[in-house]
Amino acid sequence: VSKIVVANWKMNGDINKIVQDLDYFLKHPQVNRENTILALPLPFLGLANTKLNTTQDVHLKLASQDASRFNGFGAYTGETSATMLKEMGISYVIIGHSERRNALAEGDDVLISKLTNVAMSEMIPIYCIGEDKEARSLGSYKKVLTSQLETLLKLVEFIEDNNIRLRRLLVAYEPIWSIGTGVIPTLENIIEVNLLIKAFMQKYLPRVKIDTLYGGSVSAANAKDILDCADIDGVLVGGASLIASDFAVICDVASI
Ligand code: PEP
Repeated sequence: VSKIVVANWKMNGDINKIVQDLDYFLKHPQVNRENTILALPLPFLGLANTKLNTTQDVHLKLASQDASRFNGFGAYTGETSATMLKEMGISYVIIGHSERRNALAEGDDVLISKLTNVAMSEMIPIYCIGEDKEARSLGSYKKVLTSQLETLLKLVEFIEDNNIRLRRLLVAYEPIWSIGTGVIPTLENIIEVNLLIKAFMQKYLPRVKIDTLYGGSVSAANAKDILDCADIDGVLVGGASLIASDFAVICDVASI
């Protein structure tokens, strides 16, 4: 089964790199497929979209790393709305990444607004959750993760009240202590959290197609073991997605 691979470039890259990497990915059929999603920095999404639109046989999808908490249009200097992202040809939006939860202090209210805006624009949220090192070592990680999942209940309420159809949602488990550290949880730990997410979703969002991802120090070397885990639908890749050849190896593994 072909699995999902999301590249999260974060605040990295330049025009040259975008052009070069896209050329490389487009030539590589295992990367250039429906299940590969590129979350490039916002200023380059337009360029990437134009390049993909003017090339034949493109299957790659684009994601934004964020969307504004405000919707539509208005006097919000510096913000980019889900409406605008949709118009740019973006299909997915990352919401709830720990870097934004922490460095930008994004709390529940902000996340709920962003999630509902993305859903209203008919894009697919990639909702990230993850415990910190302390919660993992104290054994309270399931509580932390469940409370992060509970944020989605407000989204459910909103879409039901407003008759919005959310067809699909990606949920990424990204333990904070694993992001950028080279340390990954045991496969048993990954599977345990994956089951927790799937059970929660089955209970509260039974009509939405849920795909679960693991993220945190995924590399060309460990991707196969992670992607082989039963019931894990894909990976979210940070650092390794910036090295085109490593990213291609991960996509290769995911397309078998
Ligand atoms: C991330 O921050 O989304 C991530 C997965 O980072 P890395 O792969 O570099 O750990």
